Amino acid sequence: MPRFALYLALGAALLSCASPAAPVAPAALANATPLAPPAWFASVYAGMEQCSGLKGDFARIRWYHVAGSQVRAPESGGFAAAGTYPGLHTIVIAHFYAKDTFVVRHEVMHDLADVTSHPQEWFDGRCGDLMP
Ligand SMILES: [Zn+2]
Repeated sequence: MPRFALYLALGAALLSCASPAAPVAPAALANATPLAPPAWFASVYAGMEQCSGLKGDFARIRWYHVAGSQVRAPESGGFAAAGTYPGLHTIVIAHFYAKDTFVVRHEVMHDLADVTSHPQEWFDGRCGDLMP
């Protein structure tokens, strides 16, 4: 069973991470379009591998974006800035945050650590504070 999404909450309008069962077709992808990752995403990924000591595969990640500033996140009750489905190696980012290094680092950590939660080891440890 694929892991479900977790969401990054940024700002009062956005949500915390929460997660029921894995959706077969993530709702976050409903209005998403594929995003060709810019070169700096790869740099961020490599940097996160280095500080975490985890090994991933940047090429296997499927990136998507949605217009505006919110990714649909019914699993966590509404909307979020971005969402990562580690088991599917899929990251969805709201267009407004697609150039935000902090958001990209946060989502990449979900993928590298293969977690939908925010263990301190990964989100406030080796790679610094990645929580909003
Ligand atoms: Zn998160």
